[in-house]
Amino acid sequence: MNIAALPETIEFHMESWLENAGIIGLTRILNNEDYAIKNDKLLIKTSSLKTIDNNFFNFFINVYGRYTRYQQIINWLPKIEATLDVGLKNYNYKDYEVYVKWFNNNVKYFVKSGSYKRMRALAHPEVPIEDYLDNTMNLFKKLSKKKRWKNDEDNLEKELKMLFEELKKVVQYFANDTCKHYFLAKNLVYHYVNKGWDGISFLNSQSKIVDLYQDYREYFVQPVIDFLLENHEKDKLSCTTCGRKMKSKEGSGYSFLNGMGYDYGKKNSNAYKFQSDQFLCPVCRLMYSAVPAGFAYNLAGNHGIFVNYTGQILNNLRDANNGILYNLTEAFKVTGNVSPWRAFYDTFSQEINKSSQYTLANSQVVNRKDKHYYFSLIPEIAANVLKKAEEIKINGERKVTLLSASIKP
Ligand SMILES: [Zn+2]
Repeated sequence: MNIAALPETIEFHMESWLENAGIIGLTRILNNEDYAIKNDKLLIKTSSLKTIDNNFFNFFINVYGRYTRYQQIINWLPKIEATLDVGLKNYNYKDYEVYVKWFNNNVKYFVKSGSYKRMRALAHPEVPIEDYLDNTMNLFKKLSKKKRWKNDEDNLEKELKMLFEELKKVVQYFANDTCKHYFLAKNLVYHYVNKGWDGISFLNSQSKIVDLYQDYREYFVQPVIDFLLENHEKDKLSCTTCGRKMKSKEGSGYSFLNGMGYDYGKKNSNAYKFQSDQFLCPVCRLMYSAVPAGFAYNLAGNHGIFVNYTGQILNNLRDANNGILYNLTEAFKVTGNVSPWRAFYDTFSQEINKSSQYTLANSQVVNRKDKHYYFSLIPEIAANVLKKAEEIKINGERKVTLLSASIKP
């Protein structure tokens, strides 16, 4: 990678909601020291291209990975170790059943998934995890005969110890950093990344590259480096998004962006971009790859929200959307079923408390739901009603407002 010959930074300008979601996605993916915000512009250091593939997947792992079944496998390591430490002499059937359920719902479920099968060759293939799993399942089978637990003659302690030792090996395997790096990333791209774009790079089911990090690098990152190293002065074409001059071979269309084929009618000002004869430069393609990171998604990944402030100040746009993402993921800890609308309300409520000047008037709210984008604009009159509803306390002590009471969790 000839990074030294590249310009120091790349600029991205705020545009319509789609570019803005990509730009917010980039700020979330990159390390803080790798970008700067100037009014309506994002400047990213080209040196960050060396690590952006890792950063891309790490964002989804860090934000959403905690709430997956995969994490539920890893979370149980301390419990398994504690059980082995205490000993299994007086272990009872009720506690045992909890492990059966956990194993079936999480470990067994995950090892049947396509993510596991496809990534297994990269995730410590020398570790005989299949053997550990076979041993575990055989022991579960033997121990699940309930009448054995009632028979005092039958000493289960030895078998239980073997079971927990095998379980420990299974969980330690999944807790390993390399395993998390591949398994979790692969798992999460099918819940979140494919809501923004699909069909290309590691989301192309025909892709020959098994390592999704490498696929992202080759498809999105390396073309940016090549593009920036070339001279474009005499090029005839220009990128429809940013206007950079380009050769046709460097371009690609917009069709990998979900919903853009037929949804653009709802956003007329943007429609001209999505004609089939339009070109997209590699720099903008990289930005659009970050669109799914710019939205805040619920746990199922089937409802995402992005608030597009009409004021062209990138810091405000970032703060508003990060507030929603924060509130949403914090709420996951309490309950698994949280609506992005709830997080939207929480952020609004916190901002109102900070400043009475805060308003949602003229904000564009983009919802990604059921494979479509839905747009709404909050008119000034509605924004004022919302604000009043938030100020009317219907229970002073518990801080319930008219608005909060009317929103389902
Ligand atoms: Zn461009």
